[in-house]
Amino acid sequence: MGTPRDSTQAQAEVLVDRLEDEYPDSTISLRYSNRLELLIAVILSAQCTDERVNKETKHLFEKYDGPEDYATVDQDELAEDLNSITYYNSKAGYIKSSCKTILEDHDGEVPDTMDELTELSGVGRKTANVVLQHGHDIVEGIVVDTHVQRLSRRLGLTEEEYPERIEEDLMGIVPEDDWQQFTHLCIDHGRAVCTAQNPDCGDCVLADVCPSEKGDGEIDLASGDPW
Ligand code: SF4
Repeated sequence: MGTPRDSTQAQAEVLVDRLEDEYPDSTISLRYSNRLELLIAVILSAQCTDERVNKETKHLFEKYDGPEDYATVDQDELAEDLNSITYYNSKAGYIKSSCKTILEDHDGEVPDTMDELTELSGVGRKTANVVLQHGHDIVEGIVVDTHVQRLSRRLGLTEEEYPERIEEDLMGIVPEDDWQQFTHLCIDHGRAVCTAQNPDCGDCVLADVCPSEKGDGEIDLASGDPW
């Protein structure tokens, strides 16, 4: 007889399959051409849209080349170059400090372990997971952003609220081969259909496996869904 975890695992497989059919080209939307640019783009993307980050980094990556450029520039100048990004002063500090560490401790290369990455300024587990996956081809976790948080809870894959706890739950039920793609699929579905304020359950390919769908094509946003 199946356990609840078995059924949640089966549900995770179903929803990955369906979302892969729906979003066959789902992938990271940040633009970068090397690992350092990826790291910087992900740091900048915290609480900022990928679209805005891509617009800003187009100029940023023309002006700054390697970690030396970021480590030696005056922080106010770097902040000014980022001024359309949320929290640009703090993020300028994170980037400058991270690049100093990369030069001093990692021979100018973006490190390839979770521990070393999360020691960089402004880099948490989410940012490190993105850099490992897309910069080093190492998948050792699931990137949990706001869309993954929201969809995982609505779909009944977790009851946790905090990203690291949600990631733990997801790693126990999403097939490991799908860990990387799971995030991109959730982001695409979260942007297109299962939006924070106005989920379109009536036009959702997951409606029949989603415990939040009330059968009338709607979701009760007031009932315990903080996202
Ligand atoms: S049925 Fe509604 S709540 Fe569930 S995943 Fe689809 S849009 Fe989101």
